[in-house]
Amino acid sequence: MDCKNLLIVGGVAGGASCAARARRLSETTRIVVFERGPYVSFANCGLPYYVGNVITEEDDLLVATPELFRDRFNIDVRVGSNVRRIDRETRAVEVEELATGRIYTESYDALVLSPGSEPIRPNLPGVDLPGIFTLYTIPDTRRVVQWIHKKQVKRAVVIGGGFIGLEMAENLQHRGIAVTIVEMLPQVMPAMDPEMAWFIHEHLRNKGVSLCLETAVTGFSQMDNGTLQAALSTGDLLDTDMVLMSVGVRPRTELAVEAGIAIGQNRGIQVDGRMRTSDRAIWAVGDAVETVDAVSGKACVVPLAGPANRQGRTAADAILGTAGAAPEFRGVQATAVCGIMGMTVAATGLSEKGVERLRKTSEMGPFEKIYLHPNDHASYYPDAQTITMKLIFSKPDGRILGAQAVGLAGVEKRIDVMAMAIQKNATVFDLEEAELCYAPQYGSAKDPANMAGMVATNVLHGYAPVVHWPDLPDADARVLDVRDPEEWAEGHLPDAVHIPLNDLRDRLDELPRDREIWVHCYVGQRSYYAIRILLQHGFQVKNISGGFLMYLAFRESTPGLP
Ligand SMILES: Cc1cc2nc3c(=O)[nH]c(=O)nc-3n(C[C@H](O)[C@H](O)[C@H](O)COP(=O)(O)OP(=O)(O)OC[C@H]3O[C@@H](n4cnc5c(N)ncnc54)[C@H](O)[C@@H]3O)c2cc1C
Repeated sequence: MDCKNLLIVGGVAGGASCAARARRLSETTRIVVFERGPYVSFANCGLPYYVGNVITEEDDLLVATPELFRDRFNIDVRVGSNVRRIDRETRAVEVEELATGRIYTESYDALVLSPGSEPIRPNLPGVDLPGIFTLYTIPDTRRVVQWIHKKQVKRAVVIGGGFIGLEMAENLQHRGIAVTIVEMLPQVMPAMDPEMAWFIHEHLRNKGVSLCLETAVTGFSQMDNGTLQAALSTGDLLDTDMVLMSVGVRPRTELAVEAGIAIGQNRGIQVDGRMRTSDRAIWAVGDAVETVDAVSGKACVVPLAGPANRQGRTAADAILGTAGAAPEFRGVQATAVCGIMGMTVAATGLSEKGVERLRKTSEMGPFEKIYLHPNDHASYYPDAQTITMKLIFSKPDGRILGAQAVGLAGVEKRIDVMAMAIQKNATVFDLEEAELCYAPQYGSAKDPANMAGMVATNVLHGYAPVVHWPDLPDADARVLDVRDPEEWAEGHLPDAVHIPLNDLRDRLDELPRDREIWVHCYVGQRSYYAIRILLQHGFQVKNISGGFLMYLAFRESTPGLP
């Protein structure tokens, strides 16, 4: 399109990336970015690490400045400028210069909205007391750091166990502050499935974090000595020096709503594949928009930096691109990673919870899942660490639907492989064949991503049928434990038969032929060898995926599991 005047609302992830791409595409378009806050292009994702004193200079959070935008890109960035209204008839926006109160209008040929999201601050009694914070901007971060210094904070309560809450827990602890996480759900990281979150719970507890799950905060008060008190749904009162609220975000849509731009069912601004809104001259990107889930095809709102940046580029291409039809945004997969006190947690695509929701409305066919615990690199090379992975795939075609992983090293690399596989509609058969980097310090000749594919294809081909611990209470199956005697002695299931793998061929007559046998070891590998022996001797046999380790993980979230 012939766009002489491009205006952009919001100057951080989506807005800044759209502006920079737009300039690379057109030297002649006048580009103005309005940013309500005092900074553009700052590193929201780095804010928790400034609180933790890992990033020590506030200036390091500024990825670019208005001066850089002006000098390098000839882009007019106006900070402290709030866009109050869009006049779609005249194609103009009304802007308030916050420092002076001056109000003026600017006309556009194309307008891009990237106003982001806002943190939810529940309307609880006492929520406005000093010492209760949300963390979303550099000024928020400054307030938190000042409070920590001024009050010599020793105890903090983090409300909400999503990724911002967990990153804040890590960083507050890094400052020597004792942290309690209060989470309303039975698990942290709601994007993961509960048995995978169990590993995070264990890790947090081992690191000394106090974790209150299935607990809501009902209000706050301040005691005479200035200490804050958080009242919990359990009836307990938590004394603390500060509170960090991280209970979720909502898309900022006021401008769009007021202008009559279509809003979607998930309350994000509705856009097409090229990020165009219901108004032909207005595009929208980032946390504020509703796009399509790449796996399910359903509308969704996913507040992450990667999609915001890519969508900014897509919008600029759609407005100013010269290479024919601009590529469409492929949708979001919610690929995310979070570091928690040395542990890495990552996921992409649908969770099992998400798949089950879709199955209730018949929008998803049969699926299977597998668990595995490969090492991040060759076990003979020092410091190999276990990665626990979950792979969810459709049956019988093996299309990858989602993957989750936790561990101390190499986690995000495998989830990135899965993310690309999902984007390309790949199957577990493709994972089996993927040719990935290998040297002993980096991986294995069968990389964990290959292993996931191999385990899954064994399931689909019938070489290694799987079952899962939550199905055990309702099954008429005999459990066979093929671990070594020392492992058995450390803990085992009641009523399980114990035959170590190495003795199995000699003790087949101890096993029933009229009942299914569900086999497990510690992580699932020896039990796989065992079921290959047993299947070839005519037993009805299944591998309990993920082994005893997944039994421990499932126990917290599975009532009825012995
Ligand atoms: C603490 C924290 C940590 C995060 N960590 C990660 C991470 O590790 N990985 C990840 O993928 N994502 C992370 N995110 C999320 C990520 O930062 C967002 O998804 C991303 O910034 C969204 O980009 P956006 O352009 O939609 O909105 P933003 O980057 O939030 O920018 C929107 C801007 O628009 C401005 N604005 C709004 N309305 C107006 C108006 N009317 N006029 C003028 N200006 C306006 C706002 O002031 C804001 O600065 C994190 C977010 C936070 C807060």
